[in-house]
Amino acid sequence: MVQIVVFSFAGIMGKLDEYSTCPGFREDYMQKLQIFVFKLQDSFKLALLRNPSHQADMVPEDQVGPGVALSPPLVSSDAYSALELWESRFRGKMRLFWWQLLSWRQGRQRPETMGFSKSDSITQDLVWRIEEILAGRILSEQRLAGLLRQEGFWPSDISRALDRAVDGGQITQLPGFIKAPWGQHVCSRCQGEYVEKAPCLRCGKGDCLRCVTCSSMGEHRACSTLLALQHTQRMEPLERIKPQLKLDYDLTFAQQQASKELLQFWQDGQGKALVWAACGAGKTEVTFALIQRALSAGGQVLFAIPRQDIVREMTERLQAAFPSVTVASHYGGQPWFAPGKLVVATTHQVLHFYRRFSLAILDEVDAFPYQGNEMLRFGIQRALLPQGKLVEMTATPNVRREYKRVITIPARYHGFPLPEPELVVSKLQPWGAMEANDLPHQLVDNLQGAQGPWLVFAPTIAACSRLRSLLSQALERPVGLCHSKVEHRAAVIKQFRDGDLDIMVTTSVLERGVTFPGVGVIVLYADHAVFNVSALVQIAGRVGRTAKAPRGTVLFLASRLSASMKQARQLIQELNREARERGLLTSEETP
Ligand SMILES: [Zn+2]
Ligand SMILES: [Zn+2]
Repeated sequence: MVQIVVFSFAGIMGKLDEYSTCPGFREDYMQKLQIFVFKLQDSFKLALLRNPSHQADMVPEDQVGPGVALSPPLVSSDAYSALELWESRFRGKMRLFWWQLLSWRQGRQRPETMGFSKSDSITQDLVWRIEEILAGRILSEQRLAGLLRQEGFWPSDISRALDRAVDGGQITQLPGFIKAPWGQHVCSRCQGEYVEKAPCLRCGKGDCLRCVTCSSMGEHRACSTLLALQHTQRMEPLERIKPQLKLDYDLTFAQQQASKELLQFWQDGQGKALVWAACGAGKTEVTFALIQRALSAGGQVLFAIPRQDIVREMTERLQAAFPSVTVASHYGGQPWFAPGKLVVATTHQVLHFYRRFSLAILDEVDAFPYQGNEMLRFGIQRALLPQGKLVEMTATPNVRREYKRVITIPARYHGFPLPEPELVVSKLQPWGAMEANDLPHQLVDNLQGAQGPWLVFAPTIAACSRLRSLLSQALERPVGLCHSKVEHRAAVIKQFRDGDLDIMVTTSVLERGVTFPGVGVIVLYADHAVFNVSALVQIAGRVGRTAKAPRGTVLFLASRLSASMKQARQLIQELNREARERGLLTSEETP
């Protein structure tokens, strides 16, 4: 049994709040933490307790004297910052003074000693169960408690087991936010610093801090407590069975070379590699041998994809390639608990993993927006075992210097070079003011001259709508429209695929992940900021993907030549040059 995780980025931007759809998640579970100090033989011990009656678990039997409460029950972030203060006091020279002062005061106020006992048959079982659930994960206390309550455990037992496991060092406990030395609050779930204060139903505070960065994964607040296993060796025992790898097709020569290089990367013990692949060169299959190697070594593998819509498809591909392995698909619903050593999940899922994977494969790194990117990188690092390896895959390598090893797949299976974009600079009217006779002739000539299908890209929905109506006027035939707000998008795409429409005006929604045989692309306003290098390379990558139609037109039209336009062309040319040098352009005709 083996598992890979593929996660997708779309969830971060989307509306999906899987916490609220997760059965068994109880909003009302809220445990506060109270600070206690205990006097040992020649030292003091400070502890955060969910309940004063758990004191007996904290100190050796012969030394149990009542502890002294240093705070009222506090929400976790407050408890941790108060704990810091008390730790410095009880480390300092005045510690005996503090002890006497506090115990005298508490003695006067609450003379009765707490009745507590050590009888705890259920607690040890529960600690084991908690360790089992937390293996390779980092979860909020609410989430963990929700699951345990579903399994029939009592809240009082859960809180006692947690206190004991934290005290015993089996579990790492983190407050919702940590205060950075420069005063900023940092989210312990995603390391984000973008926080806001808002009334909280859970802890009842009017100004409970809330993380904005990871909010789409469900609310994370200052009153949340995160739990993970302290030691990774508590994970499932290693299984050294070599999983069968089954492919119904052969890898191309370029893919085979990349696949071997990845195995070498594993062998060499490097931490991080970049796979730079031409669009449509098939980079996924290249990782399969490496995945097999990692699984055979007893490890678990994470395969990460930025878009939720292809998680399912990727799960199926991996399951077909590794029939003897359980592939877990993590997205929406209650996915965080799906078992499998090969896990496919959405991006927000990565923040639920903790020192679990010996290999993580991050697909389409270039597709992550900046903010998500930071969070993702942190999440991936935490999800990997300390010695875990990371393979990032992209079509637009922005920072090649970061990687000791860059593996390229410069050619597609059919052996033709990638169609290189033609850059055309011509004064374009702003789309709001454009009329039919303002349409650039390069656009109209192409659409009238050559057979479709044609994808015409424009930067915004407004620009697309305008262009569509102008083009249908100018060309006197139907022109399709595709953007995120088009209601029957799938139907429109089907019409285009079936040839009922041969021109489609679209935003970046069709920029990646789609193949239309024989398509040509024209990007209008290609100097617009939405058309960054990665987007332009992906758009160009729609052309010439099939053996039947391995060539095609790629035209970038703009009022000025942007750096992204130039870079996109350079990257494509660089791959073609390398493919030619390595003799991979087997079908290229001599000009
Ligand atoms: Zn966060
Ligand atoms: Zn709160």
